[in-house]
Amino acid sequence: MRFIRTTQMSKILALFNQAGGVAKTTLTMNLGYHLSQISPPRKKQNYRILLIDLDPQATLTSFMGLEPDQLEATIYDAVINQKELPIHSDLHGLDLVPASVDLSSAELELVVADMRDLRLKYALETVQDKYDLILIDCPPSLGILSYIALVAATHVLVPIQTQYKSFLGAELLLNTVSRVRSLPNRRLQIAGFVPTMYDARNTQDERTLTAIKEQLSSVATVYAPIPRSTSFADAAEDNLPLAIYQPKHPAVKILKQIAQALTKLS
Ligand code: ADP
Ligand code: MG
Repeated sequence: MRFIRTTQMSKILALFNQAGGVAKTTLTMNLGYHLSQISPPRKKQNYRILLIDLDPQATLTSFMGLEPDQLEATIYDAVINQKELPIHSDLHGLDLVPASVDLSSAELELVVADMRDLRLKYALETVQDKYDLILIDCPPSLGILSYIALVAATHVLVPIQTQYKSFLGAELLLNTVSRVRSLPNRRLQIAGFVPTMYDARNTQDERTLTAIKEQLSSVATVYAPIPRSTSFADAAEDNLPLAIYQPKHPAVKILKQIAQALTKLS
């Protein structure tokens, strides 16, 4: 019997960690960029990537070169007012749905909204067939915005700073993922952990990385660590992915490898 191959559904990857400053946004932008540079087997066109900024601080929106205060529409309008997703096309080959500070009131507005858990999922369903992968940059909290991201996602990717205190947050994070999995999104998978801001010369970082590998490898893949480097901030300031800003930077190779691995998610 022959199986008919149906077109693969796109993957929705939430970059999630309730801690701030662990490189969620930096990874969303850079992994998105590398993914958009890969062409799927037997296809001419590269992977089509959409980034969603779901953080009221709108860092991803700024990193991508848009001015959050001057936008006519943002993710807020799609989630709260159920308007069309405002997609900005072809920023370094990526598409982006931006955010602005408006989104900070969404946490409260969603408390009383009907079908609140599914608002983002439904919004993304309207564009899912246009993209191979959608990356959601979550806010640094365990509030409703992160929750609706995990409900909409097929996978969660966890950036984790190689510092002891971030490692301690991993348990809380995994509990949240389990809670989402127990009901609204049983199929949610953990795509892996990305150790970030790793300084190989710092023995504490080294110890934390070892602990991350020991404790979390049984849960999901622990990818190679992203080195600590001020070039990430410099590239972001110039609104560029690191690979365009400094193509020979050693972190570029690691980002490429992680992007390749993400194309193989089942
Ligand atoms: P989050 O989204 O988790 O809050 P960001 O991606 O905004 O974190 O990163 C926080 C800060 O750290 C930013 O200034 C960013 O440029 C910087 N940064 C990100 N990755 C690295 C890294 N590998 N090394 C050094 N600084 C980094
Ligand atoms: Mg961020």
